[in-house]
Amino acid sequence: MSKPKAIISACLLGHRCRYDGQTKKTTEVVDAHGEYEIIPFCPEAPLFGTPRERISVIKIDGENRIFTDETNRDVTKLLEDKISEFVKQNPHAKKIVLKSKSPSCGIGTTPVLNEKKERLGYENGIAGDIFLKMYDKDIICDENQS
Ligand code: SF4
Repeated sequence: MSKPKAIISACLLGHRCRYDGQTKKTTEVVDAHGEYEIIPFCPEAPLFGTPRERISVIKIDGENRIFTDETNRDVTKLLEDKISEFVKQNPHAKKIVLKSKSPSCGIGTTPVLNEKKERLGYENGIAGDIFLKMYDKDIICDENQS
């Protein structure tokens, strides 16, 4: 019988896919999913490479957009397309564990800034938002809740 699938942020699994080329390997998350077929997820590294400049969520006219911190490029559409492609290829999962605070992966923990780069509060990252619409929200958590 095939194992249930768990989509997990790749940096939590030990992939060196963070903007600074580092990992955020979280042994508790890896250990807790031994019974699952693990599907690593990282939309940023394949699009922008590793290491790369940081990105941030900026609220403009009430809409959250993703910009690169130094070159000020709007990369929202690139990320949306990459994440949607992943969802299409992986429509079924029993569990999803995403990295907290990330502009892509955060669930209610991602800093949202105004155009002056002042923090307005904390919301979902762009993948967090898409995943909450496309998968059962009850199966989605971050590494602190898994
Ligand atoms: S938080 Fe998400 S986008 Fe950022 S490195 Fe980890 S998996 Fe990739």
